[in-house]
Amino acid sequence: MKERRNRGRLYRSVTGAVAVGLAVGGCGAGGGSGDVARASRPAVPNGAVSTAPAMSDSAATWRKWGLTPLPAAPRPPAEKPVRLSATGTVPVFTRIPTTQKVVFITVDDGQEKDPAFIRMLRDLRVPITMFLMNDAVKSDYAYFRPLQALGNHIQNHTLHHPVMSALPLARQKEEVCGDQKILTKEYGTAPLLFRPPYGAYDTNTKIAVGECGPRAIVWWRESMQIRTMQYQSADRKLHPGDIILAHFRGPSELKGTTMTHMFANLLRRIHEQGFAVARLEDYIQPPTR
Ligand SMILES: [Zn+2]
Repeated sequence: MKERRNRGRLYRSVTGAVAVGLAVGGCGAGGGSGDVARASRPAVPNGAVSTAPAMSDSAATWRKWGLTPLPAAPRPPAEKPVRLSATGTVPVFTRIPTTQKVVFITVDDGQEKDPAFIRMLRDLRVPITMFLMNDAVKSDYAYFRPLQALGNHIQNHTLHHPVMSALPLARQKEEVCGDQKILTKEYGTAPLLFRPPYGAYDTNTKIAVGECGPRAIVWWRESMQIRTMQYQSADRKLHPGDIILAHFRGPSELKGTTMTHMFANLLRRIHEQGFAVARLEDYIQPPTR
């Protein structure tokens, strides 16, 4: 597809530390129960204590998707390990400092809008964080509302998915502020976090993000492919607090594999290493204003 070809070209223009991220699949490395969330409910403000139902522990429900239940996530620490400030340079983090055996799943862009994925998350209640890019989601903003209603937060991923570090500050601000405005209007809550496309950012990105509203830049430690994960750590294992990157992708991007099969594979990789999945925003204290 056109965008993917463009991404390929863009990769080669990015160097240095960023290239490490691209090599492990930075965004674009290549790229049941039904009794909850049927009706829309007010969005959970970013950083609020999640009122979402806990992850399902019903083996029968997981079996429907060819899976065995993940370990239950522990209660998030009362003292949040990441505390964000309303002012100053926005921090960048790639993992959450915690000793709990939890990882965090982030799902980027928004191109694929598979109704089965909504059913899957309603069944399993695995928490995700969605970094939505306007060009990918504008054809159907409504798709993401049932996912949000499950307690999953929507975060900023630019208007057009550019390599931010290749743009001047004014253009970077258009990208972040533009997506921030649209996501706030569509989903009723202002994103607290920003993920740069391809993981590429520079000093101006931090300025733009800070001025547009989000208070942190979120990177990742692992990148989910179709069946396997790409790791940045030499031991090729998950570690407590790791943030995992995945994408809303379908058969055309996944060599025929569906979004739900890819996601099931992701859960298997997590299960076989004995980790629970926790909600990223439950570990982050938003600024007190
Ligand atoms: Zn992306």
